[in-house]
This record gives sequence, C-alpha cells and structure tokens, in this order.
Amino acid sequence: MKDCIFCKIIKGEIPSKTIYEDDKIKIFMNINPSTDGHLLVVPKEHIVTFMDMSNELINHALDITREKIYPLLKERLHCEGLTLAQNNDLGQEIKHFHIHLIPRYPEDGADFQYDKSKISDLDTVFHDLTK
Ligand code: AMP
Ligand code: ZN
Repeated sequence: MKDCIFCKIIKGEIPSKTIYEDDKIKIFMNINPSTDGHLLVVPKEHIVTFMDMSNELINHALDITREKIYPLLKERLHCEGLTLAQNNDLGQEIKHFHIHLIPRYPEDGADFQYDKSKISDLDTVFHDLTK
C-alpha cells in the first residue's frame, strides 16, 4: 500500500536489518528496540490488524518464530525469555500488522507499565464482561 512504511520496507524501498524472509513474511530489527534483538514479524501482504490475518498466516509467523527465531535469539543473544506483543487500532503506530518479538534478559527493565490509576476494580470489569 502506498505510504505504508512496512510495505516500503518489504519492497526494499526503505532499508531494514532483515533477519529472516520468505514468500509470506519478513522479520527485521525494530529501529527503536525495547531490548537487544527486538524484532518485528511482518506479513508481506498489507494487512492492518489481526482481525484480517488468516489462521494460516498467523500460524506460519508463529511457527517460524518457534522453530527459527527464538532459538536464534537464545543462541546468539543469550536471552532467557521472549515477550510477544501485537497492537491493534489504538496503540498501533504502524497500520500494517506486526508482531513484536522482545527478547527478555534478567533485570532488563522491560516491564510494560500502564497507569494503575486508570484501572477499575476487578469485579466491575468482570461484571461488564460477563453480565
Ligand atoms: P506499533 O506501535 O506496534 O505499531 O509499533 C511500531 C514499531 O515499528 C515501533 O516499535 C517502531 O520503533 C517500529 N518502527 C518504525 N519504523 C521502523 C522502521 N523503519 N524499521 C523498523 N522498525 C520501525
Ligand atoms: Zn503495508
């Protein structure tokens, strides 16, 4: 899609530090990493949110992450965990689907803080979800 930064990366119009690529997905380094080795898994097709991702494509992205990428991050960067994060709509800066792969290290400080003062009582939210 015109004006989509990730489509431009996929077409090679914008450079990226690519770690893995096949006919369906590209995995490259986040330019503003939360931890060392923070990667983005991106479908080659312009898809905006997970709502429009096929099961096949999501499974493929996760299979590659399981089989190749997490082992690579463990072997080369010695991470001890992996956080997967994926934003949709509000909170999604780039409107082209991507999964964040955030390698975790002891005391890396990547604690993904939210404003506790904005969080409602657990029972209230439970009621809203189940009434
Ligand atoms: P999100 O808020 O989930 O849409 O995250 C978008 C991510 O894309 C951010 O973490 C950015 O640092 C990252 N990003 C933006 N532009 C680029 C780029 N040209 N190459 C790699 N990562 C990028
Ligand atoms: Zn795109």
